[in-house]
Amino acid sequence: AIICALTGLGIGPGDEVILPGYTFIATAAAIVGVGAIPVIAEIDDSLGLDVADVERKITPHTKAILPVHMQGVPCRLEAIVELAQQHNLQVVEDCCQCVGGQYKGKYAGTWGNAGAWSLNYYKVISCGEGGLVFTDDYDVYERAAFAAEPGLPMWMSDSEWQNKPFSRQCYRTSEIL
Ligand SMILES: *Cc1c(COP(=O)(O)O)cnc(C)c1O
Repeated sequence: AIICALTGLGIGPGDEVILPGYTFIATAAAIVGVGAIPVIAEIDDSLGLDVADVERKITPHTKAILPVHMQGVPCRLEAIVELAQQHNLQVVEDCCQCVGGQYKGKYAGTWGNAGAWSLNYYKVISCGEGGLVFTDDYDVYERAAFAAEPGLPMWMSDSEWQNKPFSRQCYRTSEIL
């Protein structure tokens, strides 16, 4: 799901993505999976990104901040989104450990440009494997859909496509869904 969200946002080779040092390896693996460079920042007592350290880690190559809401605790989303806007960066939220969590009355996964959830076998909601991407941006959704299917999202008619399709690996969820 994180690979699809990053692809949906157009993040790829050469781009730097800032993530916290405290997370599951899949967060960094997804950044590497799209050819981008993971840049690790410190956490604070929110268990999530330390916003001051994120700011120190921003370079001309930074394209996105990837906060992770660990153990159900949302990160300092307001400050992270504000910092991202100041530097023209995207925000992808890793919500794999935070299903239904809120920060200042707004759901985790709805603050950034996209949110990602895992549906693997030991998550809060499981479908055996796979994951979910949330976004309110149609372009991001469509490119994430191309990234989830090997270039042909079977639930979409090609007459609806607004982006040029491209090939990717296959990340379909299992039939349990
Ligand atoms: C579970 C988890 C993931 C994704 O795990 P997959 O097994 O690849 O679905 C990513 N980030 C965090 C923080 C997780 O806990």
